[in-house]
Amino acid sequence: MSAAVIDGKAFAAGLREKVAGLVPAFEAAAGRKPGLAVVIVGEDPASQVYVRSKGKATEASGMASFTHKLPAETTEEALLDLVHQLNGDASVDGILVQLPLPRHIDESRVIATIDPDKDVDGFHVVNVGRLATGLEGFVPCTPLGCLMLLEDRLGDLSGLNAVVIGRSNIVGKPMAQLLLSKSCTVTIAHSRTKDLPALCRTADILVAAVGRPEMVRGDWIKPGATVIDVGINRIDNGEGGTKLVGDVDFADAATVAGAITPVPGGVGPMTIAVLLRNTLVSAYRRAGVPLDKGSI
Ligand code: NDP
Repeated sequence: MSAAVIDGKAFAAGLREKVAGLVPAFEAAAGRKPGLAVVIVGEDPASQVYVRSKGKATEASGMASFTHKLPAETTEEALLDLVHQLNGDASVDGILVQLPLPRHIDESRVIATIDPDKDVDGFHVVNVGRLATGLEGFVPCTPLGCLMLLEDRLGDLSGLNAVVIGRSNIVGKPMAQLLLSKSCTVTIAHSRTKDLPALCRTADILVAAVGRPEMVRGDWIKPGATVIDVGINRIDNGEGGTKLVGDVDFADAATVAGAITPVPGGVGPMTIAVLLRNTLVSAYRRAGVPLDKGSI
């Protein structure tokens, strides 16, 4: 193995510390804590784990956490009522509705109802448009976390060739927009892309956000490239249990890449850290308290 391992866990811990360090100044200026409201509908076990860890992380950073657990049979209208109520609640700076929602609820309608200036997930079309046009807004947490890791590793990204595998609204598309905003030459690949290995070999930066265990092999990677593995896949460990792997075959890729994120411990921990960061930025912005952007 020759690649440097990008320690997302350590970077995320540092970011969470910075966020926590900026909470007291906000509290002193605004007379309240920054607040994040998380809404979960139904009993999906993975979603429950995510929501619990988001709540704990919010409190650990000194911010106020408001968790709303609604039963699976909640109507769309009742959920929209709650979102309206949170939009109007001055103590709430960020609203996150945990996805997926039960099938009878229209996710896009719910996201469209969140106040764009409290949309710390960055999924509202207003924030999507802001990102696409270079205006300030909220950027989805996972791709923003990937960008932070890339800039920490490489500094100026301008002129680099970036290939993003995956075109979801949550990861692939915003990732590509962010890399474009940093003047990378960006190609977005997807399930219809022809000769994906050859395309990947052109990438100085390769981001895999596919959801296919260990799909990206070492011989897909340009020697010295920086590889960001967003995938989280649970597979059989061959001993009757399971293990987490990414979309990149880590052992194989690490013999060729210059730097690579592991799974777990790479991109995963960045998502919650950036969520806290977005909530803090929202609180400062909404209260009109100045925040040095370079500090976070
Ligand atoms: P989606 O399923 O929404 O999107 C997957 C994308 O991969 C699609 O654009 C699809 O193409 C593309 N794709 C599928 N198969 C292939 C293939 N064989 N070759 C090329 N492209 C292909 O997934 P998400 O973007 O939501 O998530 C991607 C991965 O990231 C998942 O493993 C998920 O668990 C993980 N994830 C991790 C997070 C974290 O915090 N670390 C947060 C969010 C996601 P097409 O559009 O043509 O169908």
